[in-house]
Amino acid sequence: MGYLTKDSSEGINHCLACGDIIEYGLGRQDRKFCSPGCKNRYHNKRRAQSWERYQQKIQKTLEDNHKILSKLLQLGLTSIDLVSLGRLGYNFNYVTSYHKIGRRSLYSCYDITYEATPSRIFHLESHWDSGSGLETEEGAVSVPEELKQRGCAVSGDL
Ligand SMILES: [Zn+2]
Repeated sequence: MGYLTKDSSEGINHCLACGDIIEYGLGRQDRKFCSPGCKNRYHNKRRAQSWERYQQKIQKTLEDNHKILSKLLQLGLTSIDLVSLGRLGYNFNYVTSYHKIGRRSLYSCYDITYEATPSRIFHLESHWDSGSGLETEEGAVSVPEELKQRGCAVSGDL
């Protein structure tokens, strides 16, 4: 990508991998690479880049999800309906773990865990140990003591 691949005015093609001019012998006149080695290198790089983009997208989504959940906890909320959560931009396809224990569906996004029904999430809880020294962008999320003690008590309306 980014390389000039064809100069139509002169009929010269450049290798997509190294940028060298491709010498056409008796072979195909539409080759994009000067050698099989360059072709492999190019495709390996593309694969690596696309994997990297894929990873970054997942990481970004998880981070965005975490910010939303952190915000809810900061507001003292431990339960929210899925429609509202979706409106906040939460992406339900990305979690860091999922366990089904009996009838309970337990999810986590890094340190934050929650349970979910088809209509809402509840028992939203941060397991963050603020003593570990790491901080999020907005500072460590602190869960009010009373909320921690109440544990899973909140599951009704907001
Ligand atoms: Zn080449």
